[in-house]
Amino acid sequence: MPLLVMKFGGTSVADLDRIRNAAAKVKREVERGYDVIVIVSAMSGKTNELVGWVEQTGTFFDAREYDAVVSSGENVTAGLMALTLQEMDVPARSWQGWQVPIHTTAQHSAARFVDIPRKNLDQKFGEGFKVAVVAGFQGLAPDNRITTLGRGGSDTTAVAFAAAFQAERCDIYTDVDGIYTTDPRITSKARKLDKIAFEEMLELASLGAKVLQTRSVELAMRNRVRLRVLSSFEDTDETSGTLVCDEDEIMESKVVNGVAYSREEAKITLVTVEDRPGISAAIFAPLAEAGVNVDMIVQNISEKDYDDHPGSVTDMTFSVPVAQVERAKKAMEEARQSGAISYDELVVDTEVAKVSVVGIGMRSHAGVAARMFKALADENINIKVISTSEIKISVLIDRKYMELAVQALHDAFELHKA
Ligand code: ASP
Ligand code: MG
Repeated sequence: MPLLVMKFGGTSVADLDRIRNAAAKVKREVERGYDVIVIVSAMSGKTNELVGWVEQTGTFFDAREYDAVVSSGENVTAGLMALTLQEMDVPARSWQGWQVPIHTTAQHSAARFVDIPRKNLDQKFGEGFKVAVVAGFQGLAPDNRITTLGRGGSDTTAVAFAAAFQAERCDIYTDVDGIYTTDPRITSKARKLDKIAFEEMLELASLGAKVLQTRSVELAMRNRVRLRVLSSFEDTDETSGTLVCDEDEIMESKVVNGVAYSREEAKITLVTVEDRPGISAAIFAPLAEAGVNVDMIVQNISEKDYDDHPGSVTDMTFSVPVAQVERAKKAMEEARQSGAISYDELVVDTEVAKVSVVGIGMRSHAGVAARMFKALADENINIKVISTSEIKISVLIDRKYMELAVQALHDAFELHKA
């Protein structure tokens, strides 16, 4: 039997009507001849409520019990979905993570998949059940305690099942109808993409496209699971939504396929650090230890000589999330006090945002950066930091120009055109 994985997010199972609506979509695939593994999230808002309750029990809660509590939302939806399908004459059975069993690592609240044996589900399909409804987001640690996979983890559960059961496709039903060239709230010209390559999706997901958990895209890429993102609130067919797939499946790709942004960035500059071997290591090791996520890094050219600084000095600039500025400052001040590094001044700018253009076509096309910088220049937007990778160019700019920059770049790369 061909097999499909269908995943429904929290808003798609928010009440019994929506569960019925989702179940009708499952039933249609069964009628087309598929066995289906349905992965469900908790009803929307449920996981937040559960986390809130746990946090109110005390400051230092036991991570095992946190997982025992917050995984329970998915158990409810799995059972309700199975009951709803049965009402529709579809033979369905619910599965909690431990019943499959979904083996994970012991890292509570951030567990990773180890193994999903097929035996139990295959046996049930063999008995004539058409649908296995599996609770997303949860698994079983080696010591037999329940684990969870981190917020948004049901996407990753879906991909893991698609890989383990060699599903034809993994359909992620959500409250948007696909992946867009940029955030439609920023420009009405944003266009839904029919297809996007895994690597592009990874860049867009980690830059804040928020539709898919980043880990789920990584796992799909590694296992070549074709992922489709589509709306559970619309009538959908094989061509709906956006297919996230291998780049070989995409015949014609534009040079740039998306404009991403990240609003809450901050820029930190260490003024006049010594220019000597080991200085970068001495700066970034304490930041890493403090758990600061450094993103862009720029070191000024070497060999700047100041009268009051014998030997050459340089400036080091890097970006961090706004929420981590205080932690970063503290790590730098401590490193300075210990004598590991020296600098004259630490300058922080918390009013910046990052805007990026993404596209696999950049690998083989020249001039993308020039076109990007020209578009920003035409809007009089000053670029503070630039960084590039094989398929992405990012700039740090004043936050107040972020929307304007996204719109200008969307126009410059003609992303509204198919
Ligand atoms: N219910 C979990 C959460 O809200 C997992 C998920 O929905 O993906 O994070
Ligand atoms: Mg989600």
